[in-house]
Amino acid sequence: MLYVKAPAKINLTLDVLYKRPDNYHEVEMIMTTVDLADRIGLETRKDGQIKIVSADRFVPDDNRNFAYQAAELLKNTYGLSEGVTITIEKQIPIAAGLAGGSSDAAATLRGLNELWNLNLSLDELAEHGAKIGSDVSFCVYGGTALATGRGEKIKELSVPPTCWVILAKPKIGVSTAEIYGGLKVDNIEHPNTTKMIEAIENNDYPLLCESVGNVLESVTFELYPEVVTIKEQMQRFGADAVLMSGSGPTVFGLVDHEARVSRIYNGLRGFCEEVYVVRMLGDRNPLA
Ligand code: ATP
Repeated sequence: MLYVKAPAKINLTLDVLYKRPDNYHEVEMIMTTVDLADRIGLETRKDGQIKIVSADRFVPDDNRNFAYQAAELLKNTYGLSEGVTITIEKQIPIAAGLAGGSSDAAATLRGLNELWNLNLSLDELAEHGAKIGSDVSFCVYGGTALATGRGEKIKELSVPPTCWVILAKPKIGVSTAEIYGGLKVDNIEHPNTTKMIEAIENNDYPLLCESVGNVLESVTFELYPEVVTIKEQMQRFGADAVLMSGSGPTVFGLVDHEARVSRIYNGLRGFCEEVYVVRMLGDRNPLA
């Protein structure tokens, strides 16, 4: 069995520039991986089938699973006779804005590249990933990056300043399509992506905290007021910056002093069941 790590991502920025004629939104986002990860086990099958095994009942066990789609894509593209059993040990909350499904697909692409000796480059795997979902390309590389287009064009960035990341997920799942659908593109307060890149490249933590922004917050906040409550609580408990990740509902707080981490964690645990304290992984290496 080959094991591959599938880390979650957070958005330090998420901007929508316009709606394209193909109905996708043209985005500009800065994403980074964190050390909350699913574990993907891959085992070749001689019968040619693709099977998904997971103890989590919310993980689809058929071709709706992005990891299944990843295996099927490689199998069909390269005319392979082998199949694979994909075991998904889920740690990343589902439908949370943390790209769990996309990361599982990316880990499957990376793992099968080895298991099936395909010798594909990361760029080639990322290109395949884009056919499965907009966030899969980023997840193939991991680390920290600026994603443009519909999210599939990736430019690697430096490792962000060191800090703690506290993730809090309210007990709801959010549909990414619903949130993008509710966005009024003519009436957006855009985050300053250039400033965020500067903060990352100069290792400037205060500037990073100042520059976080996500245009989807207003849409999700309106539909799910519990997400606003979590953001406000996290701010009240003393996080340096607080932002919703992706289309939500997970909210993350950044803190650079360890002493404040437990205060925020304990405060949030009072009314939110799923709270995680993690680190940014920063660069591409820890994916192996
Ligand atoms: P993003 O941040 O990319 O918008 P997300 O974290 O909000 O994604 P996911 O956890 O990927 O959302 O789940 C979205 C949907 O994808 C779920 O409703 C689930 O049915 C489906 N899905 C497909 N494959 C997987 C997988 N491997 N793990 C979890 N969900 C999956």
